[in-house]
Amino acid sequence: MNNNVEMIKLEHVSRVYDLGKGSRVVAVDDVSLSVYAEEFVCIVGPSGCGKSTLLYLIACLDFPTSGQILIEGQPLRAPNPRVGMVFQPDSVFPWLTVRRNIAFGPELRGLSAEQVDQIANSYIRMVGLEGFEDTLPRQLSGGMKKRVDVARAFANNPEILLMDEPFGALDAMTKERLQLELLRIWDNERKTVLFVTHDLEEALVLGSRVVVMERAPNTIQTVIDVPFERPRDLLLKTSAEFQQYRRMLWDMLHVSAR
Ligand code: ADP
Repeated sequence: MNNNVEMIKLEHVSRVYDLGKGSRVVAVDDVSLSVYAEEFVCIVGPSGCGKSTLLYLIACLDFPTSGQILIEGQPLRAPNPRVGMVFQPDSVFPWLTVRRNIAFGPELRGLSAEQVDQIANSYIRMVGLEGFEDTLPRQLSGGMKKRVDVARAFANNPEILLMDEPFGALDAMTKERLQLELLRIWDNERKTVLFVTHDLEEALVLGSRVVVMERAPNTIQTVIDVPFERPRDLLLKTSAEFQQYRRMLWDMLHVSAR
């Protein structure tokens, strides 16, 4: 994969919701951004600044009212099978076992039983769910269900993965463990990831760049390059440089919120 390929390109994208009686909400206001192949880009910003709407637009679950979105140079007109999503609520199928959940996408793509098995096994291992292959989701903890969700998204082999606060509902320890697993998976797979979070440390641990959004107008305030070398681990959070970056992001968000 060529790292100079623009996987996602947003050109002056806006989304205005008409609420009737002359009232309207500008959910996304003139956002332009390029995300390159194999980048891990995090989006942070105050609640209501348009982060989720942006992901919905890129997933083609909603449409810009102006501007254009290109996926690998092609204008986006219909949901693209090369784009996968992980949301905060679990999207695991409750009636399928862990293995069947993870195998669902590869099965749908018509791969052979042997290939499906191989893919399912490799992701079950990657997210540490060995021994739980035949378990149903309701018997799993929140963190384990989220692992199934992440494994399922990667098993679909999307080129682009959109993640909307996927770990937002988890306790701090489980969240850190999943961040570490996501780092490891991404080191192996190098997908193009766009990851929304309100957790600044999460953005800095995971991201190669952090897009800082602001409210009113709901647009990009700035984009920061994250210089920390990979492979990363969570000890990174204790370094002085990391804390400087965290402080810088915090200041940006709080100054813009004043
Ligand atoms: P974030 O994810 O950053 O919290 P959202 O993208 O969810 O922000 O929302 C951005 C703004 O757009 C908010 O003011 C929200 O209320 C508004 N909004 C989002 N979706 C709709 C919708 N379907 N109809 C009307 N307003 C919406």
